[in-house]
Amino acid sequence: MLDRIRQLEQQARALELDAVQRAGLMGAVQPYTEEFLTSMERRPVFEDEGAGHGLYDAPIEEQGIAIDEILRLWREQVDRPGLNAASGGHLAYIPGGGLFASAVADFMAAVSNKYAGIYFAAPGAVRMENMLLQWMAELVGYPSSAAGNLTSGGSIANLAAITTARDAAGLRARDFHRAVVYLSGHVHHCVDKALRNAGLGECVRREIPVDDNYRMDAAALAAALKQDAADSSLRPWLVVASAGTTNTGSVDPLGPIAELAQRYKLWYHVDAAYGAFFLLGDYGKKLMQGIEHSDSIVLDPHKGLFLPYGSGALLVRRADDLMRAHHYQADYMQDARRRQDELSPADLSPELTKHFRGLRLWLPLKLFGLAPFRAALEEKLLLSRYFHLQLQKLPGFEVGPAPDLSVVTFRYLPAKGNADHFNERLIDEIRRDGRVFLSSTILDGRFCLRLAVLSFRTHLQTVDLCLAVLREIVGRLEHSTA
Ligand SMILES: *Cc1c(COP(=O)(O)O)cnc(C)c1O
Repeated sequence: MLDRIRQLEQQARALELDAVQRAGLMGAVQPYTEEFLTSMERRPVFEDEGAGHGLYDAPIEEQGIAIDEILRLWREQVDRPGLNAASGGHLAYIPGGGLFASAVADFMAAVSNKYAGIYFAAPGAVRMENMLLQWMAELVGYPSSAAGNLTSGGSIANLAAITTARDAAGLRARDFHRAVVYLSGHVHHCVDKALRNAGLGECVRREIPVDDNYRMDAAALAAALKQDAADSSLRPWLVVASAGTTNTGSVDPLGPIAELAQRYKLWYHVDAAYGAFFLLGDYGKKLMQGIEHSDSIVLDPHKGLFLPYGSGALLVRRADDLMRAHHYQADYMQDARRRQDELSPADLSPELTKHFRGLRLWLPLKLFGLAPFRAALEEKLLLSRYFHLQLQKLPGFEVGPAPDLSVVTFRYLPAKGNADHFNERLIDEIRRDGRVFLSSTILDGRFCLRLAVLSFRTHLQTVDLCLAVLREIVGRLEHSTA
């Protein structure tokens, strides 16, 4: 047996690189990432070719291969095809960019492999996460009774919010079909997914109309609540407002909705995955007044704080509500239970073992301070307004409402032919061109394009390039159909 153990040890030790091997690995990867960053502006934002099929031709095998070979696979099969979400030319969906400082923090988190789920195991890591959550709670105007959780993204944070709201209201399975949820048609689809995942797929869903700026119509919400409150077969339960819809960037009237939520004793959830960090500026604070009266809020640092993907956050006004929905006890965790000076993420989320995601947020905030984040966010607001104004000067373009935040919707009205078809071709051509990347949506039944400025790498030059690309491609398409 000992011989076998020694023999196995010999092989298993390959997993532990020595100092020279580590330097070799870093020496191969570091120039790669450097080249990726320095060539950013020359590379297309979107590449249609190659869909990563080559990965299947390089299966996982008994013997390893060299790092250079691995990097070649990575470059051709993963890095190149599809969207370059790190590029400033990514102006679709809700971009963020991905701060290099966060990547370094992830590296440190992974090397240390801190167990950030439980205070006992990593008091510093848990304190760091709690401190970041307190900072966010202050930012949104929550009292010190608030708690939260750093999640992998906004969808999971919304799910945790829904289950918290469900348990706080004491909803049981027999209540689900009469529990009423109020939201606008522009709410993010992950909220519907979360309702289903939380077992509430059969709840009553009241879609509240929006105004001309695609904001929830508070008067229509009041009318729906009045009607439902008079119906004893229903149980008005939850209202979800958006602080920055993904579709148009519109911010629902958070103050008036807060009043209604209070009057009708609803759980008030604000999905601010996109917009929350605009609270760092005076404009955002004013626009989102009333957010402080909500019961729960979702924020996405991988959007508004420009982190690489993998960072969302949930805040809940009363820590007890979050705890009730997520705390747990198990015999095999008894040692970890003795020290309770701080709340542990494991008691506040569905996760137990998790990525130490506090560091990727804390390190850049400490390294840069808040000032450049505030500046970048105000810059994005102004860039989207600038685009909105400039586009109106280009003949043939029809623009949506002035942006609440940093999303602009628009479409081109061709001299002749079907406008929807024209705009579909326009977006296809923009992708093929590859200098900028936009997305499309349907507004009031019409095919529209949208520009979302939120990557920290997007600047005036990028927006001017986008305007030039639009002018150029529209000219070409008009010419070819003339
Ligand atoms: C992006 C977004 C979500 C979903 O968050 P993920 O981080 O993509 O899971 C939810 N709501 C809004 C308003 C968003 O913009």
